[in-house]
Amino acid sequence: MSKTKSSESVKVVVRCRPLNRKEESNGPAGGVVKMDLRLGQVILRNPRAPASEPQKTFTFDAVYDSNSKQRDLYDESVRPLIDSVLAGFNGTIFAYGQTGTGKTYTMQGAWLDPEKRGVIPNAFDHIFTHISRSQSDKQYLVRASYLEIYREEIRDLLDPNHGTARALDLRESPETGVYVRDLTSCVCKSIKEIEEVMNVGNQARAVGATDMNEHSSRSHALFLITVECSQPGPDGRKHIRVGRLNLVDLAGSERQAKTGVQGERLKEAAKINLSLSALGNVISALADGRSGHVPYRDSKLTRLLQDSLGGNAKTVMVATLGPAPQHYDETLTTLRYANRAKNIQNQPRVNEDPKDALLREFQREIARLRAQLNHRKWRSKQKKEQVEGEGWERDGDEETEGEEEEVEVEKEAEEYVKLEEQRLEKEKEAIREDRFLLAEEKQRLLGEKERMMGDLRKEQEATEQLTAKYKAMESKLLVGGKNIIDHTNEQQKMLEMKRQEIAEQTRSEREMQQQMLVQDEETLELRETFTSLQQEVEAKTKKLKKYLKLYAKLQCIKAEIQDVNDEHVRSRQELEQTQNELTRELKFKYLIIENFIPPEEKNKIMNRLTFDPEEDQWKFQPLVPAESKSAQMKKRPASAVGYKRPISQYARVAIAMGAHSRYRAENIMFLELDMTPPNTASLDRLTEAELNQSSSVDNSPTKDRGVRKSRSWCQTPKSITSSSSNVSLKACHTATPSAAQ
Ligand code: ADP
Ligand code: MG
Repeated sequence: MSKTKSSESVKVVVRCRPLNRKEESNGPAGGVVKMDLRLGQVILRNPRAPASEPQKTFTFDAVYDSNSKQRDLYDESVRPLIDSVLAGFNGTIFAYGQTGTGKTYTMQGAWLDPEKRGVIPNAFDHIFTHISRSQSDKQYLVRASYLEIYREEIRDLLDPNHGTARALDLRESPETGVYVRDLTSCVCKSIKEIEEVMNVGNQARAVGATDMNEHSSRSHALFLITVECSQPGPDGRKHIRVGRLNLVDLAGSERQAKTGVQGERLKEAAKINLSLSALGNVISALADGRSGHVPYRDSKLTRLLQDSLGGNAKTVMVATLGPAPQHYDETLTTLRYANRAKNIQNQPRVNEDPKDALLREFQREIARLRAQLNHRKWRSKQKKEQVEGEGWERDGDEETEGEEEEVEVEKEAEEYVKLEEQRLEKEKEAIREDRFLLAEEKQRLLGEKERMMGDLRKEQEATEQLTAKYKAMESKLLVGGKNIIDHTNEQQKMLEMKRQEIAEQTRSEREMQQQMLVQDEETLELRETFTSLQQEVEAKTKKLKKYLKLYAKLQCIKAEIQDVNDEHVRSRQELEQTQNELTRELKFKYLIIENFIPPEEKNKIMNRLTFDPEEDQWKFQPLVPAESKSAQMKKRPASAVGYKRPISQYARVAIAMGAHSRYRAENIMFLELDMTPPNTASLDRLTEAELNQSSSVDNSPTKDRGVRKSRSWCQTPKSITSSSSNVSLKACHTATPSAAQ
C-alpha cells in the first residue's frame, strides 16, 4: 500500500484577525501582536509588563496579518496540501484558537463574496477543477461526509434525523485507521453538489444554534472528502489511489473564569476544554518525542485526528489570534501550542489500491450492468434478424465489440421492438378479420397476442430501467480531460501556476531569511581569532554583546517559565473549580441514592454495572448472558427425574416395596380424590392399620400424625393411578432397567 515513506513535520501557520469594533472602542492601546511576514515571525507584547521587558518572538512556517487575504493563505499554505490529497495522500487542515479569533472565518469564510471564501469552498473549486483538467484516462470518485463532536458525542450532520439520532461509534481498522461507523457519505459530481452537502450539514448545525445557544462555537466540525482516482499503471492494470481530506473547524478554547458559565454550560465548556486539552496533551507528547505513550484515547477529537498528528497524513495547523490586549494570555497559550505542534513528525504515504476503494466496486458494477445491457440488446438484434429471415451468425465476443458496432446494435434492438409491435398488431388485425375462426378461438388467439405484446413491453421497460441505472452509475464517475481544450481554462491554469510559483518563492525566501538569522549568530562565534590589541578589544566587545544577547535570552526564558507557571496555576484553579462543582453534584446524587433507594436495589444495580471504555459510559450487564440461555438451566441428574431431589437406587427399590419410612423421598401429601367415600368403619380400619405399620417401622408417632389423613405416596404406591409422580417413576424405571431388578 505504501509507496513513499518519509517523515515530515506538521506545517504551522498563524493568522491574526483585525481588531473588531468593540476592541477598538476599548481604548487606544492598539494590538499586542506584530508580525514579520518576511521572516514568518510573530512578536507578542505583554500589555501588563514594563516597556523594558523583551517581547516574545515565535517563528512559524508562515504568518498572516490582519490585512491578509483568504486567497493568500490558500495559495501559499493550503494548495500544496490539496494537491497531495489529489495524488493519494491523507491531508488535514485544522483551525485552532480562542473563540472569536477567526477559525470559522478561515475555514468557511463568507461564501457569497469570492474574495472572502475560506479554505473549504476554495478546496472544492480546486478539487473539481483539477479533475476536469486531468488526463482522460483518469477516473475519479469524490465522496463527502460531515460530522460534529458535541459534548464528546459524534453526530452525523448529513443524517436527516440528526437531532434525534444515536451518537456514532469510532472504530479502527489497519487499512484506514480510525473511522466513524455508519457515517453518511455522499457521492458528489460537481462543486454545486458538494456545496449542497455542506449546506445541508450547516443547516443541521444551525438548528442547534437556535436551540442550544451558540452551538456552532461549542462543537467541533469535521468535513471529510475522499477522492479516489483510478489510472492505468505501467503494468496495464488500473490502479486506485485514495486521498482523504479532513477539514476541521474546532470549537473555541475559552476560560471558564472569563465566560462565567455554570451548571450545564459549565459541563459543556468542561467537555470542550477537555477535548482541547486532550489535543494539547497529544501535541505535547508528540512534540516532546520522549514519552512513548500518546494519549489519543482521551477524547473523540484526538482519536479522529490520530492519523493527522503523528500518523499517515500531511497536516496544516492554522492557529488564529486576536490582537486585543485583554486576550494576551489566550494568545500566548495559542502561540505556545502552535510552536510545540511544529515539532510533530508525520509519516505520510500514498494510499495505493486499498481493499475498501469504492471506485473499484463502482467500476465492477458498471461493467456488470454494461454486460447485461449488451446481452439484452444482442438478443433483440438476433431476434430481429431471425424475423427478417437473414439468419444471424455471431463471431467474436460481445464485450470486445467496438463502440460503433454497439450503437448499431442498440439501433437494431430498438427497431426490432418496433417491428415486433407492428407485426403483432397486424396479426391481431388478421385474427379479428378472419371469418372462418370460431369466436372462442379468436378470443384465445387475441389473448395470446396480447400477452406477447405485454411481454415485449415488459422486456423493453426492464431494458430501459437497466439503461437508466447504468447511466446513473456511470455519471458518478468523473472522467478527466473534459475541459482541456477550453481556452479560458488554460489561461486560468497558467495564472494559478504562476501564483503557485510566487507562493513557492515567498516560502523559500522566508526559509532563507530564517536560516540567515541563525547563521548570523553562528558566524559571531567563528570570529574568535585576533592578532592586535584593537582586535582583542573588538572581539571582547563582541563577546560582551554576545553575553548581553545571551543574558536577554535568559531573561526571556525566565519570563517564559514564569508564564508557563502562571498558566499552570490558572488551569489548576479551573480544574479545581470544575472538580468542586462535580463533587458538589456527586454529593447531591449520593444523598439521593443513600436515602431514597433501598440498599438491596442499589447493590443489585451496582453489581450489574460495568464501564465500557470504548464508549466512555457505564452500562448494565444483561441479566441473563445472551450467549447461553439453554446452558443456564442446570441439567437434572438422571437419578432425580420425577423426584424433587436425587435419590439412590437402593432407596428407590425400598420405596417401591413400601418399606422403611426413612426412604420416603418427600413428605408429600396426595390430594387426589378418593373415589370411594370413606365411612367411619373404613377410616377406623385404616387408622389402625397405619398405626400398626408405623409403630413397626418407625418409633416417632408425631412424625406420622401429620400425614394421617392424607397418605404418603411411598406408603401406598398401588392406590395411585394417575399421579404425575407415578408416571415419572415408571418412566424412570424404564429408563434405567437396572432399577427394576
Ligand atoms: P471563531 O470561529 O474562531 O469563533 P469567527 O470565525 O466566527 O471566530 O470570527 C469572529 C468574527 O471575526 C467574525 O465576525 C469574522 O467575520 C471576523 N473575522 C475573523 N477573522 C477575520 C479576518 N481575518 N478578517 C476579517 N474579519 C475576520
Ligand atoms: Mg467558529
